[in-house]
Amino acid sequence: MPQLSSLVQGYEGLILDLDGCLWVGGRPVPGAAQAVDAWKAAGRRVVFLTNDPRSAPEEVVRKLWSHGVKASQDEVVTSGVVMQEYLGERFDGCDAVVVGSEAMVRHVRLAGLRVIADQSLVPSADVVVLAGYPEVNYTDLTWAVRAAYEGATLVATGRDRIVPSDDGVIPGTGGIVAYVEYCSGAEAVAVGKPGPDAWRIARERLGVDGAVLAVGDRLDSDIGGAAAAGIDGALVLTGVSSREMAEGWDGARPVAIADDLALLILG
Ligand SMILES: [Mg+2]
Repeated sequence: MPQLSSLVQGYEGLILDLDGCLWVGGRPVPGAAQAVDAWKAAGRRVVFLTNDPRSAPEEVVRKLWSHGVKASQDEVVTSGVVMQEYLGERFDGCDAVVVGSEAMVRHVRLAGLRVIADQSLVPSADVVVLAGYPEVNYTDLTWAVRAAYEGATLVATGRDRIVPSDDGVIPGTGGIVAYVEYCSGAEAVAVGKPGPDAWRIARERLGVDGAVLAVGDRLDSDIGGAAAAGIDGALVLTGVSSREMAEGWDGARPVAIADDLALLILG
């Protein structure tokens, strides 16, 4: 059985962020896949929790396998999965305007909502779902603003300002949320990290009774969000937040800081 580091030895479950931990854009983080394998070989559980609202869980599973991580779909919680659970609990049978990818439209339908495709129905929408995707256009934004202005509830996958990509940063869902809030005067609920819903659902998926550790590369959404949900957080330095940022950080402290995932899990 692989030897786990003393930092993680006491935890039964891992809630692991993807971008900045396992890969950065399209580039794998060296040793990260082997570290996840070792964790699972030691009989521990893992759930991958990502704020990426564009990809379907099965696409994330494919990407994990292409990076050498043998993951199954029940181990993947995207902000689309969180959105589906959130809407299913509150808006079953309602009418939705969706700004988002094909994958997000499917999540909304699976939650039991009708997705509006006819302009005349937009003012009577019950809920507007906001989830950043590359093809977002003026019609999307107009429908979202119009429905929210007429009183529909605004629900977003997150408020991330930027997202890393191979060519540099791209705008995150937060920009779309700000646009629709500003124009409509409505205020959105964000269900992804750092909010409590994402952590609750990830924790339920883990299904362990013992201690859980969240691992991420962002002090605010990963470490801060986990702490607010009562979960220990460990910071890896392969993504957004640096050691200097962690030292000057006045929010919740990470229980561990490691140069990368392999050093955190295997020492
Ligand atoms: Mg990240």
